[in-house]
Amino acid sequence: MAVTDDVVLVDQHCHGVLVTDVTAEEFAAGLTEADTAGRPDRWRSMLGLAVRRWCAPVLDLPAHATPAEYLARRNDLGWREVTRRLLRAAGVGHWFVDTGYATDTSPTELADLGGGTGHEVLRVEQVLEDTTAGSATELLDRVGAALRASAAVAFKSVVGYRGGLGLPARRPSERDTRQAAERWLRGGTRLTDPVLHAWLVHEAATVGAETGRALQFHTGFGDADLHLHRADPLALTDFLRARRDVDVVLLHCWPYHRGAAYLAHVFDTVSVDLGLMVPFAGARTGAVIAETLELAPFESVRYSSDGNLLPEIHHLGAVLWRHHLGRLLDEWIGDGVLTAADAERLAHDVGGGNALRSAPHLLGDLDDQR
Ligand SMILES: [Zn+2]
Repeated sequence: MAVTDDVVLVDQHCHGVLVTDVTAEEFAAGLTEADTAGRPDRWRSMLGLAVRRWCAPVLDLPAHATPAEYLARRNDLGWREVTRRLLRAAGVGHWFVDTGYATDTSPTELADLGGGTGHEVLRVEQVLEDTTAGSATELLDRVGAALRASAAVAFKSVVGYRGGLGLPARRPSERDTRQAAERWLRGGTRLTDPVLHAWLVHEAATVGAETGRALQFHTGFGDADLHLHRADPLALTDFLRARRDVDVVLLHCWPYHRGAAYLAHVFDTVSVDLGLMVPFAGARTGAVIAETLELAPFESVRYSSDGNLLPEIHHLGAVLWRHHLGRLLDEWIGDGVLTAADAERLAHDVGGGNALRSAPHLLGDLDDQR
């Protein structure tokens, strides 16, 4: 038994799942960040191997069942039963669900399928893009008010996908912000203006600091829409140095997870998570976790799956994290690096305790589960 086996996880960043059966093509599209899923064969990857090894037995198939056998069984059982089995076997107590993408299930609906409790992570760009206003001042006021009024457990920004993570340390001047808001009101639909975007992220940071909510950033790899070099978390350094009033979580991070670990090391308000990289790395997950723990304090690392669309991703995030962190900790116990008690504390902190510390109203709940 590994020390990670009984950890009730907090999946501190994930998305909803599809509420329909899927074709072979749709399933393959869920196994890749590419915008095409025909060739190369997406099953022949670390993630594809992990689905066959870890998910097949949850559907009563032998480990390493073929893709055709897996998809046939999946459709026999139906999406609801498949989703229920895969999510429940993940052992998650809290799902923090980004409602800006893959919105087929709300946080509550995801938790109904998977057990535990669902909470919203609010995508801040969507707040601005959905706000109507007759003037620049009204727009800025309404966005600030919407952030304050939100019941979300955390905020999330995709500025890494738009202008990039090189945010200014200070919020833009009132004059520049007003002019940018006026430009936006003349027909903006997708926020890319660097001034208005910088204002928005600073505003979310301020509201997060006031209301005890963390600000999550997409960093590192993502889909083909991304310019990966602009999503290096090290580009956030000026912002992080200036905004030490708010908890910041760097999501995904790969291949910059070592740089992210450095930021978590030098800034006590910064945490890192490896969501989506854990399922994608499959059998190489242990290496990515170990490289992150080289420098990141153990209180500054958080579990997430970044599961989206296919419940296989939520499931693999959890089982690969348990398996590979468990093996790593066993090895370290054997080498005298730490004690079993140290290992248990690390597993519980990374698995959920650290995320709950920035969501204090959920803390009582964690104590109940221990
Ligand atoms: Zn995500």
